[in-house]
Amino acid sequence: MRKTISFAALLLAANAHAQDIGQPLPAWRQGELDIHHINTGRGESSLLILPDGTSLLVDMSGKTVERPPFSLPTKPDASRAPGEWVARYLQRVLPLPSGKDTARQIDYAMISHFHGDHMGAIVEDSPRSKNGYRLSGITEVAEHLRIGTVIDRGWPDYAYPAPLKNPTIDNYRSFLDWQAKHRGLKVEQFQPGRNDQLKLLHEPNAYPQFAIRNVYANGRVWTGEGTRTRPVFSREEAPGENALSIAFKLSYGAFDYFSGGDLSAQDIEVDPSLDNVEAAVAQANGKVDAMKANHHGSWDANSAPFLRLLQPRVIVVGARAEGHPAVNTYQRMTSAATWPGPRDIFITNVSAATFKTTYNIEKAASTQGHVVIRVERGGASYRVFVLDDSDEAMRVKSISGPYSSN
Ligand SMILES: [Zn+2]
Repeated sequence: MRKTISFAALLLAANAHAQDIGQPLPAWRQGELDIHHINTGRGESSLLILPDGTSLLVDMSGKTVERPPFSLPTKPDASRAPGEWVARYLQRVLPLPSGKDTARQIDYAMISHFHGDHMGAIVEDSPRSKNGYRLSGITEVAEHLRIGTVIDRGWPDYAYPAPLKNPTIDNYRSFLDWQAKHRGLKVEQFQPGRNDQLKLLHEPNAYPQFAIRNVYANGRVWTGEGTRTRPVFSREEAPGENALSIAFKLSYGAFDYFSGGDLSAQDIEVDPSLDNVEAAVAQANGKVDAMKANHHGSWDANSAPFLRLLQPRVIVVGARAEGHPAVNTYQRMTSAATWPGPRDIFITNVSAATFKTTYNIEKAASTQGHVVIRVERGGASYRVFVLDDSDEAMRVKSISGPYSSN
C-alpha cells in the first residue's frame, strides 16, 4: 500500500511538471528568488526578483549602433525598440506592490558598464522623450516604469579612468538629472566590497540568509576581509570599459549566483596567466551554483582560471551577436579538463551560423529563449525555465532541475 501511494505521488509530481510545459511561467511567489535573463537579441538585460519582492534590473539591452549581420535580429520582432520589449517583459513579471501605490516599479536599475548593448546606445535616429533626452535602453525603460535607484560605476563625475564623454553618456546624464529633479530618482556609484548597498527593501528581516556582495568594479576587487578592496591593475595599465564592469555575488541560503557584465581580457586565449581581472574577481567571489557568462561568452572572457574557481553548475550565456558563445569559450565552459563534474549551459540566442560552427553546441541545455532561474524559498534548490521568446506569452519550453544548491 505504501508503495502504491508513493507511486501515485510520483505520478502526480510528473504530471504537474509536464503541465507546465507550453503553459505561461507560473508567477513568482513571496520567498522565491527569480533571475530572468531576458533575450532581446540586442544586448543583455537581467531582472532579479528578490525574496521579498525587491526588484533589481541589471542592464537594459538596447544596442543600436552595430552593423548587421554581426548583430542578431531583435526579439520578439523589430516592431519595438529593445528597451521597450524589456519594459513590457518587466510589466508581466514584476510583483504588484501592496498598499495604495499599485504601480509596478524597478527598485534598483544597475548599469554594469557604459556600453550600448547594456545601457542603450544613442544614435542618429534615437527617438526623443518629451522630457528632452533621447530614448534607448535605460531611458526607454524609464518611459514605462518608475525607477527607484540607479547604480552605475561612474556617478557623479564619470571621470574614471578618463572623462567619459560621448552622445550616449551625455544623454544618460541628462536623463539622470531630469529623473532626479522630477521623479525623485536616486543615483549611486557601485562600491566594491560592500554587502549592504543592494538590499531587501520590503521585508529584510524575513530573509536574513539573503545578501548581495559587491565584488568588483572600476579596477578594485574585494579582498574578502570586511569591506576592504585592492587595485587589480597597475598604474601603467589602461583597462578598457569591459574590464571595469560591475561584478556581484548574490547569496540566498546555500544558493550563490555571479554576474559580472562584460569582464574580459584580450590576451587570455594565448596566455591565461594574463587574465588579471577575471581571475582576481573569481578568487574574491569563490564557487557558485549559477552564473551569467562574462561578455556574452566571447572569445576573450570566461578564462579557465576563472571558471575553475567558480565551478558553476548552471551557466547562462546572454548572446547578442554571431559567435556568442565563441567556439573556444564554449569548449572551456563544457570541458571536464577545466573543472570536473556536471554543468548545464543555457544560451539565450544562438544564430544559425554559430549553431553550425560551434562544436557540441547541440548538447547545450538550451540555445534559444529567455532563461529564468527560480530558486525555492530559503535557497536550498533551484530550477531553470526556458521561455519561448518569439512572442510575449511567456510559454515554458523546458524545465531543468531541481538542482541542489551547494
Ligand atoms: Zn556587452
